[in-house]
Amino acid sequence: MFTAFLIKYAEIGIKGKNRHLFEEALAKQIKYALKRCEGEFKVTRTQGRIYVDALSDFDYDETVENLKTVFGVSGICPVKYVEDEGFEKLSEEIVKYMDEVYPDKNITFKVNARRARKNYPKSSMEINADLGGVILDAFPEIRVDVHKPDVMLNVEIREKIYIYSEEIPGPGGMPVGSNGKAMLLLSGGIDSPVAGYMVAKRGVKIDAVYFHAPPYTSDRAKQKVVDLAKLVSRYTGPIYLHVINFTDIQLAIYEKCPHEELTIIMRRYMMKIAETIAKETECLGLITGESIGQVASQTIQSLAVTNEVCTLPVFRPLIGFDKMEIVDISEKIGTYETSILPYEDCCTIFVAKHPVTKPNLNVIKRHEKNLDGVIDELMQKALETDEVIIVSSEN
Ligand code: ATP
Ligand code: MG
Repeated sequence: MFTAFLIKYAEIGIKGKNRHLFEEALAKQIKYALKRCEGEFKVTRTQGRIYVDALSDFDYDETVENLKTVFGVSGICPVKYVEDEGFEKLSEEIVKYMDEVYPDKNITFKVNARRARKNYPKSSMEINADLGGVILDAFPEIRVDVHKPDVMLNVEIREKIYIYSEEIPGPGGMPVGSNGKAMLLLSGGIDSPVAGYMVAKRGVKIDAVYFHAPPYTSDRAKQKVVDLAKLVSRYTGPIYLHVINFTDIQLAIYEKCPHEELTIIMRRYMMKIAETIAKETECLGLITGESIGQVASQTIQSLAVTNEVCTLPVFRPLIGFDKMEIVDISEKIGTYETSILPYEDCCTIFVAKHPVTKPNLNVIKRHEKNLDGVIDELMQKALETDEVIIVSSEN
């Protein structure tokens, strides 16, 4: 019965003259999500609204599921179109609609008519009253409630007449592309995919960098990160994933620095390299999956020492989350099952038995001096290994 969707959006409505850009970004993301769906669709922007029209047969559930991945969408209203063939015909269609959508008639309703086309022979008030009467006549159990109706039956008079009353909640947030771009440090774990999702939810486009350490980390570990990027790209749009070979840097740190400081020093070099790539690719910040106290390298002392190498802002959207809360989100967005696959990452292999939990910046910097003479070249070489994989939910 439904052949279209009215897409509702909240926050972007208030953005004044940016509104146009926001709606454009939203329409683009909607089209991207619809590419994953069976069927052909048309996305139209008119008068502060976005409509998705099905031009062919389509799978209703699949389409709704995919529209729910578009940030900026606050609600998805399935719409029935009726040709304007007189009030009699409209009344019949309205009765049919109520009968099909609400099999249980023990409900209250209110008709809310809107005329986008002013030459319609009845005023909005008249449409409300007349269609209300038609419904009451057809279904004796149904009652009117103008203040708090169970069902708000919207009837919009345009070229055609649009009928809708259901609103499926969208993910909220802002459309990706409306708030610049940031570089996600994406590992194979549970946290960083969630972190990327959360920042993208605020409209930020995402690029990603993954540090791998062959032969200590396998191709399957790398593939797992590509798979995670692909899952995240359902929400974010295509992701440029930079894969950096980090082995030589890790070995140098392992050789020349105290083992209990290995992780923290390694994290500092990851951040430095990520920042270099970020600046080259117009990213305005870095994103990590860190959360206070989760592991030794995420005490606030450790975070401060890691942060010290960065000049770009570092966004840590999970900073105050418990692991269980992060797991819940990863399950909801569909990354959890992939994240828990058992492939090692470079942090787990070079990890010390007793890593420092309260690193002192001066001490760390002194020990990093052991890398003088080799580290600049190693960083340069690592940057040259940059392999860019374009990851998209379309491929
Ligand atoms: P995650 O679940 O995201 O792997 P984690 O709890 O394992 O996080 P750490 O391993 O300490 O935490 O990493 C902290 C953050 O550093 C990660 O969330 C991620 O943003 C980044 N990171 C860690 N390892 C890598 C890597 N190999 N490549 C890219 N980023 C990484
Ligand atoms: Mg990890």
